[in-house]
Amino acid sequence: MKFNVILACGGSGKRSGLPYNKLLLNVGGAPLLALTISRFYHESISKIIVAYNADDLNAVSKITQGMDNVALCKGGESRADSIANALKYVDDDCDYVIIHDGARCNLPRQCLIDAMRDAVTYGASALYTDSVDSLRQICEDGVSSVAVDRNKIKRIQTPQIFKAKEIKLAYRLAAEDCANFTDDATLFERYIGKPVHLTKGSEDNYKVTTPQDCSIINGGEIFIGNGWDTHRLDVGRKLILGGIEIPHDKGLVAHSDGDVLIHAIMDAILSAIHERDIGVLFPDSDNSYKDVSSVVLLREVLDIVNCKKFKINSVSAVIMAQKPKLSAHIPTIQINLARIMGIDENRMSITATTTEKLGMVGREEGISVSSVAALKRV
Ligand code: MG
Repeated sequence: MKFNVILACGGSGKRSGLPYNKLLLNVGGAPLLALTISRFYHESISKIIVAYNADDLNAVSKITQGMDNVALCKGGESRADSIANALKYVDDDCDYVIIHDGARCNLPRQCLIDAMRDAVTYGASALYTDSVDSLRQICEDGVSSVAVDRNKIKRIQTPQIFKAKEIKLAYRLAAEDCANFTDDATLFERYIGKPVHLTKGSEDNYKVTTPQDCSIINGGEIFIGNGWDTHRLDVGRKLILGGIEIPHDKGLVAHSDGDVLIHAIMDAILSAIHERDIGVLFPDSDNSYKDVSSVVLLREVLDIVNCKKFKINSVSAVIMAQKPKLSAHIPTIQINLARIMGIDENRMSITATTTEKLGMVGREEGISVSSVAALKRV
């Protein structure tokens, strides 16, 4: 059994609030459209026809370059026009056409397989979900409403799958009628007169439509970085940790103020967003960084985070010091760093440990810090 896919991508995606078509939105490093296309790699699917918006031709061509089973077709004024155009590109020997919204990029594989199976068994299929909300229908007066049994109402998704010959005929008849439908199953029933079998879909298979959808789809992705720093302890220096001066008879030796905690945190943040480390950004050969407060450097790193459109989700750090005892200072340091980074205090966690007098930390020759930062795209 041979299937072709038509992806409806002819809209402008204006409701997403993005300055460009939502199908071009970067989702985890790849455009949303590429993700949708990847849902249809299946041995029975021989062609994927992308009905694109003319404004996006260059971008869509770039995304689909090198995909040998993808064909591009110019979309129309309406969704129905786009599908009607795309049907002309369906292979002659194709048995079934799968019609899918380009913005439903999270289609679970099992839903696709179930819908393909049901299309072959029943002749046509469409995915559905149940409503979790109670439902009411507005009466003819436009004001009052009556309760509707939600078990009898289904929300229809795509893919919707039809016999190739029948859906082509349905669209030809619809064109003669100048009729317009937002849903292929409705058009199919109207002109072919056969029922469409409903196959259980998934809430994951939502259509990316609003700005909220765009941030949800990217919001889950966490970028992790880790950083490590060590500085030597010596007399005649202040001990600064997390921008707070800690009373001690020794301080950390460095080109800057030697705030080893902020240094490790900066490297963790930079690593998470794939930037070079602080040794490259603030070289000790540069005299403008001589004795500089590391808080100033951290603010520069936060500027880079903003420019790359990331935000800090949480930061964790372990301070390894034999002396002084840091326990009493940790809440103050946490609050100070959280304020500088503009995150909730609960997302800035510091622990301190000795090394049981082992190694250079144990001999009180220096202090080391290990840090992990988690960032999200804004
Ligand atoms: Mg350092």
